[in-house]
Amino acid sequence: MVSSEKTGRIAIVGSNMVDLITYVQIMPKPGETVEAPDFEIGCGGKGANQAIAAARLGSQVSMVTKVGDDLFGDNTIRNFAENGVDTTHVKKVAGKSSGVAPIFVEPSGENSILIVKGANADLSPADVDAAEDMLRQADLILLQLEIPLETVAYTIRRAAEWGVRTILNPAPATKELKVSDISSLSFLVPNESELELLSGMPTTTEEEIVAAARSLIAQGIGTVIVTLGGRGARLVTADDVKVIEAVKVKPVDTTGAGDAFIGSFAHFLAATGDVEQSLNRAARYAAFSVGRRGTQKSYATAAEFEEFCK
Ligand code: ATP
Repeated sequence: MVSSEKTGRIAIVGSNMVDLITYVQIMPKPGETVEAPDFEIGCGGKGANQAIAAARLGSQVSMVTKVGDDLFGDNTIRNFAENGVDTTHVKKVAGKSSGVAPIFVEPSGENSILIVKGANADLSPADVDAAEDMLRQADLILLQLEIPLETVAYTIRRAAEWGVRTILNPAPATKELKVSDISSLSFLVPNESELELLSGMPTTTEEEIVAAARSLIAQGIGTVIVTLGGRGARLVTADDVKVIEAVKVKPVDTTGAGDAFIGSFAHFLAATGDVEQSLNRAARYAAFSVGRRGTQKSYATAAEFEEFCK
């Protein structure tokens, strides 16, 4: 039963972005102006996406993030509020733009994406300190890598001192992240390429994936959950491996499936405490989003998810 579960408290220290999606017939060459047939704005950013997934399922979600002093910032704050995400720790940075992602989609479906971090680049350890009272009371703290690494590492260290469990989605992948900076992490949730970069080991076969995950566990990380797209996920601990099967759906749009998986995993884990069961539910939640167009638009509410599970 989903509806009778307790409501968990989830904090996200992460990014927000506004997706500016232009559907083009042809991309303009330098110096050229061309007309494009369609345009869409969507709220995104890995932190915000994961927050929205958990909040739609019914968790009490609080977001620690920074927006710019512009229309996009106001829009992002409104979107959090409309989805029930607490915005007490969403701060506006004067003179900075919000994080934006201009995306160009060609008729073939090929995407060209620019990322402007904007105010996300200013989220600092001082902002984590300012939110300490709330963070200490969270059941889980969720992080990704679209904010400064220093802030990610600081949050993970402080959370361990407070006895609050942490989940890190090490995306987008970066060579700058050192395992020694995040060794007190409770759950790491990489995909294959992020795992390869972080461990410095190959991740082509099942055996290689498990060995790479265990190499991180040997350095202090509690549990590694490797996501494998349509092949599901693997729950790897020091002495066990569990296969989390993907739920079969006709894929419509896989954008944001990873964020749906992680945000919903946090919700189910905070509500039930059962890691494997929470991952199986997260796989179902992510599958729902894969069957629909859009990112946050494709994330189910608790009622929609319950219906989908019938
Ligand atoms: P993203 O592209 O969103 O950053 P990611 O690489 O972080 O994604 P994936 O491994 O692609 O994450 O997907 C996360 C989870 O979503 C998978 O473990 C799986 O449960 C589910 N999923 C992804 N793609 C599909 C699919 N085609 N069919 C069913 N489930 C899927």
